[in-house]
Amino acid sequence: MAADCIFCKIVEGEIPADVVAESEHTLAFRDINPKAPVHVLVIPKVHHGDAAALASAEPAIAAELLAQTRAIATQEGHEDYNLVFNTGAGAGQTVFHAHVHLLAGVDVSRLFLA
Ligand code: 5GP
Ligand code: ZN
Repeated sequence: MAADCIFCKIVEGEIPADVVAESEHTLAFRDINPKAPVHVLVIPKVHHGDAAALASAEPAIAAELLAQTRAIATQEGHEDYNLVFNTGAGAGQTVFHAHVHLLAGVDVSRLFLA
């Protein structure tokens, strides 16, 4: 656990969260400020600063996290969804514990890639 990391505190149960799924090495909970009808954050329980650091250090957990996203989307009633990994402050990352935004119910790809 990293000191003063909000997401580590959620993993430890020190800060409450609306948990929707858990696997051996990951936790998924609803974003406190949702930007889509379904907006879930999927995080590794272990602390890494961003998804790239996680993938380098613990690729099996990165793969587990990615697999969890589909399972959670299905659980939330969506076949189609977007994944967003904000990486670095300049790209909008505000919490420096690896996480992926799982967004469903709105096609955010049109905002960026159309
Ligand atoms: P980032 O901007 O780092 O990619 O995403 C961080 C996300 O974490 C934001 O969408 C923000 O709303 C969410 N967030 C920040 N603090 C908390 C919290 O205490 N609980 C929950 N559930 N989400 C949080
Ligand atoms: Zn952390």
